[in-house]
Amino acid sequence: HGDHDIWLNPPPIPLTTEEMDYVFASPYARVPHPSYGGAKIPAYEMIRFSVNIMRGCFGGCTFCSITEHEGRIIQNRSHESILHEIEEMKKLPGFTGVVSDLGGPTANMYRIACNSPEIEKHCRKPSCVYPGICENLNTDHSSLIELYRKARALPGVKKILIASGLRYDLAVESPEYVKELVTHHVGGYLKIAPEHTERGPLDKMMKPGIGSYDKFKRMFDKYSKEAGKEQYLIPYFIAAHPGTTDEDMMNLALWLKANGFRADQVQAFYPSPMASATAMYHSGKNPLRKVTYKSEGVAIVKSEEQRRLHKAFLRYHDPRGWPMLREALIRMGRADLIGSGKHQLIPAHQPAVDGYQSARRKNSTPVGSKKAGQGGKILTQHNGLPPRSHDGNAWDKREQAKAAAEARRKAVAGGGKASGKNRKPSQRPVAPR
Ligand code: SF4
Repeated sequence: HGDHDIWLNPPPIPLTTEEMDYVFASPYARVPHPSYGGAKIPAYEMIRFSVNIMRGCFGGCTFCSITEHEGRIIQNRSHESILHEIEEMKKLPGFTGVVSDLGGPTANMYRIACNSPEIEKHCRKPSCVYPGICENLNTDHSSLIELYRKARALPGVKKILIASGLRYDLAVESPEYVKELVTHHVGGYLKIAPEHTERGPLDKMMKPGIGSYDKFKRMFDKYSKEAGKEQYLIPYFIAAHPGTTDEDMMNLALWLKANGFRADQVQAFYPSPMASATAMYHSGKNPLRKVTYKSEGVAIVKSEEQRRLHKAFLRYHDPRGWPMLREALIRMGRADLIGSGKHQLIPAHQPAVDGYQSARRKNSTPVGSKKAGQGGKILTQHNGLPPRSHDGNAWDKREQAKAAAEARRKAVAGGGKASGKNRKPSQRPVAPR
């Protein structure tokens, strides 16, 4: 490529369960490389007590290259191998009885595969779940449910969380799985990734429609209620993905507002190596169909201005983005969405605020700052900078919140009943990203 050589490895031949067990039985140190010294590494803290149960993904989301790295055929470890790893983890210093994840590239693809190995061998479809779940896919979640139950029953294990991303259009095929997950494995919040609400960008991402999210949400709420738990779904969205128009972002913002979501940090599409969406980004063509000089063009969001606008739609509640949004809405002929009505997106009145600054930029080190050259090392949140407010173990945070609530309850019990006026108002979920 130009004057650079590029070495591209094909996905490896899928490993059998015996081979996976062999690989995972190696005596790993389970600690960061010594070159990190004593640095606190938030990413390590997050996975320190998690277990990888499989490799591969047949989802085929175009912005992700995991299929190119790990293959489309799921490679599973045996229950015995996974449970043995948990037993070994229990001996490590710092283990509190909480397993932070039993997962992989996608939480719920364990032991799920094409019904026919012969068809699977010849199939060249980029996804088994898009545009709908393939009729040849065996969506049986029973082995995964059994694994969760066995892991929960291990002595010394207090809680098993599922932190890997969930393919919820697949999960709704097994209500028993959703019930098991919601009843036992959610730490208050479950992050899922519809990525958008509009068909245009969703088709370019190869993601299911928002109807699947609604179906999953109904099941999530039902089983949470049955379990007597107050739990929330936190949906993630991408701004500026190839195929996204300003109207698509406006409709997404209206959906967010109607559903009471306020994204704290938002993600804008960035072209990463080997992802099909990267090919769209650079060519302006859709590689999911045959590409010719006459073939379908894809709307690409490249200019800094339009990327900022798309992010501002995702953060419709942030006054710093309102001037830009007002201009855009007027240009789009949707000035009717400016005002203080319930159905309107942003107010006409502008409060005094600092200028707009993206969350990513806010966390960056300014050019020329002394920090930039610190010890010749580039500090990131993975090797030294403090975590953002939403990083950290969800279980620990929940335990802290419970302890704080208990302390408040005791204080109230000691000092008389809290009046309705003093009681803390119930809070709507705020989606971190
Ligand atoms: S036939 Fe369907 S389930 Fe089988 S590999 Fe192809 S897409 Fe996947």
